[in-house]
Amino acid sequence: MHDHAETHDAAGCCGDADGAISRAERICRERDLQFTRLRRDVLVAVAGQTKPLGAYDIAERLSAPGRRVAAVSVYRALDFLTENGLVHRIASRNAFVSCGHSHTDGAGLVFLICRNCGTIDETTSPEIEHQLGRTLAKAGFKPTSRILEVEGECGACLGRSAEA
Ligand SMILES: [Zn+2]
Ligand SMILES: [Zn+2]
Repeated sequence: MHDHAETHDAAGCCGDADGAISRAERICRERDLQFTRLRRDVLVAVAGQTKPLGAYDIAERLSAPGRRVAAVSVYRALDFLTENGLVHRIASRNAFVSCGHSHTDGAGLVFLICRNCGTIDETTSPEIEHQLGRTLAKAGFKPTSRILEVEGECGACLGRSAEA
């Protein structure tokens, strides 16, 4: 099992589909947006995982005999969910994870990606955000996202290899 205590706040954790759904319902109500069945299904599929899912994997999971879900529809639903901060795109994996946090839109995020078990942990770092903001300002660069992806080995995997 993965220990999230250090990087996740008490409000939520990845793999918590119910929490993600109620958050999505609240956000859609507040912003007067449609939380369609497909958007809900896609969010449930992503939120049930601690590993990122690609659009084709999601389409595969949602498809049943006689009911094929096209990847293009899944992409559209993912765009919607990403825009509203309910899922995040992991660029280096071209895959998506649900957001279990209640950080603000556009907050600087750090994703810790384990190369060994594939688990992704999401965390925020005010220090990095502050520093990054200064670096960007100095470079005269306007970011559209401030998401950092760090690859390595997670604490659980490190613990396991230390035991072996
Ligand atoms: Zn998030
Ligand atoms: Zn790991």
